[in-house]
Amino acid sequence: MNRQVTAAIGAILVIIPLLSIGLWNSDESILIEKAEGQSKIVAIASFYPLYEFTKELGGDKVAVSLLVPKGVEPHDWEPTIRDIQRIEQADLVIINGNGFENWIDKIDSSKITIINSGKSFGWLTSESKLPVDFHYWLNPLSAKLQIKTIADGLIEKDPENTDYYKNRKIAYDLKLDELHSKIKTELNGCKKDFVAFHDAFFYFANEYNLNQHTVIQSNDPHSEPTLKKLENIIQLAKSLDINIIFTEEGINSRTSQVIADELDGSVLVLSPIEVVEDGSSYIKKMEENLSNLKEALCN
Ligand SMILES: [Zn+2]
Repeated sequence: MNRQVTAAIGAILVIIPLLSIGLWNSDESILIEKAEGQSKIVAIASFYPLYEFTKELGGDKVAVSLLVPKGVEPHDWEPTIRDIQRIEQADLVIINGNGFENWIDKIDSSKITIINSGKSFGWLTSESKLPVDFHYWLNPLSAKLQIKTIADGLIEKDPENTDYYKNRKIAYDLKLDELHSKIKTELNGCKKDFVAFHDAFFYFANEYNLNQHTVIQSNDPHSEPTLKKLENIIQLAKSLDINIIFTEEGINSRTSQVIADELDGSVLVLSPIEVVEDGSSYIKKMEENLSNLKEALCN
């Protein structure tokens, strides 16, 4: 790498943590959506996909709110005292589990029912025995397992409406099956290697027979990329003839841009669906990911 690039990367290594601190400090707690009447179950979902899954399953029987404020990246997010009060007042708290919510130990779990939607996965370990991924929702088929766990939790809390939840689950599962078929068909015959931003796509890559490489080589997007790692990923991308580098929402895309510039390539978004804008949805975001992956792999 030339000196200019090295300086640019150096600047980014300083800037990214500062930006991240800014995000962590933003305190835009969203109030619990008050249940209309007392009959609704009050549920809090840890972050976006779990919020949408619970809304899809719960329909008009469940008032769901999002814990991590919209626009805030959920890794390393810490609840305020007010957030903890909100959590402890809810009937159900839906989490991803397996270390994604590192605030969970601060909660008095004797007061609430926690649905650990990742309970059927456990740790996925690499050769070094370190956890490598808990982003189950990024594979529609493993998302269905999370959804089953959430549905079971709703039924346990509200057995009178068992059929209601079961039927809504069947309807949403169909959409996820369609999404899965579409991804499988459209990526068939394309290249296999892609460079995501953080290590979020193991389950996705595994399902569709792809090879995930990442800009920061960590399952936490706030992790700081070292110069050495950035040099390595540039070399790897060159050797694999990759010229699209992915970034994601809620983080600074300059690191991805620096790498893409070295490759005379470009930057596109591959979303871990951790930060979702108004009007979007899990399925929309997955379809955008598919479209950008096709741009990178199928041209
Ligand atoms: Zn992540």
